[in-house]
Amino acid sequence: MGDTEEWKKPIETGPIPESGDVFDVIVVGGGPGGSAAASYHAMAGSRVLLLEKEVWPRDKICGDAVGGKSLSHVAELGVKGMIEKTPHYRVDSIIFSSSDGSEVRVMLPEEDFERMEAGYALPRLQFDYMMFKQATELVIKSGGAVIQEFTVKDVDVNKGDEGSTITGITGFVGHRKKGAMRSYSSALTIGAGGYNCPVARTITESVYEEPFREADHFCGGYREYWTGVEGCDGDTGPIEIHFIDEVNPGYFWIFPVNENVVNVGVGMVISEQRKHGGMRSSLKKMQKWITTESDRFSNRFKKAQMVEGSGRGWQLPFGSPRKSPASFQPRRNAMAGAMCIGDSASLVDPFTGEGIGNALLSAKLTTEFFDPKEHSEGFPEDQATAYMEALWGELGNELSNSYRLQGIVKRKRLMSWFVRRASKKPKIGEILTEMIASKESQENLYSKWFLFKTIVLP
Ligand SMILES: Cc1cc2nc3c(=O)[nH]c(=O)nc-3n(C[C@H](O)[C@H](O)[C@H](O)COP(=O)(O)OP(=O)(O)OC[C@H]3O[C@@H](n4cnc5c(N)ncnc54)[C@H](O)[C@@H]3O)c2cc1C
Repeated sequence: MGDTEEWKKPIETGPIPESGDVFDVIVVGGGPGGSAAASYHAMAGSRVLLLEKEVWPRDKICGDAVGGKSLSHVAELGVKGMIEKTPHYRVDSIIFSSSDGSEVRVMLPEEDFERMEAGYALPRLQFDYMMFKQATELVIKSGGAVIQEFTVKDVDVNKGDEGSTITGITGFVGHRKKGAMRSYSSALTIGAGGYNCPVARTITESVYEEPFREADHFCGGYREYWTGVEGCDGDTGPIEIHFIDEVNPGYFWIFPVNENVVNVGVGMVISEQRKHGGMRSSLKKMQKWITTESDRFSNRFKKAQMVEGSGRGWQLPFGSPRKSPASFQPRRNAMAGAMCIGDSASLVDPFTGEGIGNALLSAKLTTEFFDPKEHSEGFPEDQATAYMEALWGELGNELSNSYRLQGIVKRKRLMSWFVRRASKKPKIGEILTEMIASKESQENLYSKWFLFKTIVLP
């Protein structure tokens, strides 16, 4: 992919398979999680069907920061080189600020930056295109199929004597009313349809009658693209996270995505947003106030222009631990015949809002529990349980820790104190950075004693 404009072209996904066709793996949703899962399973020898309801290139509302955790998968899947050929921003540091205006800039580890593993920011329009394009090539090469503009409507559940099993999906290509219905079956269905994934809904609400969407663990996010924002030029530098009163608990972000364009947005936990009236009840209004009236930020937007039509909201399903989980943490995300990944498994970091890394990590993890030959008669319940345990084993500490930090953000004075201390004590800055850069080796980060010692002791 030598052409820097390549990601604007349509993706050729080939003929649509006959209704009734059988696959080893069906992947519902072609975002980064679904594209990675389809690629990893195709590489492991499965015949995959990848289904996506949109047509590429398609936008996804996001902050557009692709952190270090994502980059190892992106490299493994052969997509990193493609990204580097298209316009992108290299993140060398993160600026954090709190409501009293305290600010700290934390540099990302020099070695990671040199190795190009610290992090990038680039529009999801581009990033997701490249992930999906690579998945299409790998899936078709290994005998599978890919369909764009295919909306999964129903998840097929077989209710047998020994329990329920997901056996495939039914949906339509193209227009809801005019598109012909098609059904496909598989030993394994992977839910990768994002925050409202039909597979995740079926597992939680329909089969196990457990909660799917809890307002304390869902966050609203609103994004706009701007040009000409003061202090944002060049193709390398910081991304900015501002914990300000008006968006508490949550944050206002300024993430440059290439030399000219900046992703600007706000995010806030939905249950908290509901407690407020007026401006705070609408993320769009909050953002307007910050960019036009606030003392701290409006000056930077005086000569800037919002890219028309770029203002849109979306939801982030957090991976914060539930107080009394009905079964598994953060919620049930697998059963006989199915595993969910990424947003469909509610894995977004509750402090940073980062979800791409965990989508890619969970996508790869599913390959450890499914073998197309051994499980040709259906992906068994015990493997589903093993997957859920392994997923929380892998991410539970990190997500719980981020949830604790989210608690600090809620208490404004504590947060201001935290940022002031971070500006004096580099170790605290490193903790904040770890939450974004997510170097997997930071065992210390999960120890309460380590956190206490680092934050509280002089
Ligand atoms: C405002 C905001 C800012 C964020 N900022 C960041 C950030 O800076 N960095 C970061 O890492 N993460 C960020 N996130 C989180 C990140 O966007 C998600 O975690 C990530 O997109 C998850 O990837 P996914 O593949 O699981 O789901 P998605 O990216 O949501 O992809 C799901 C795909 O499934 C398709 N689909 C849905 N339903 C169906 C259906 N019925 N049939 C067929 N296809 C279907 C959708 O069209 C979509 O393409 C942000 C999120 C928001 C909302």
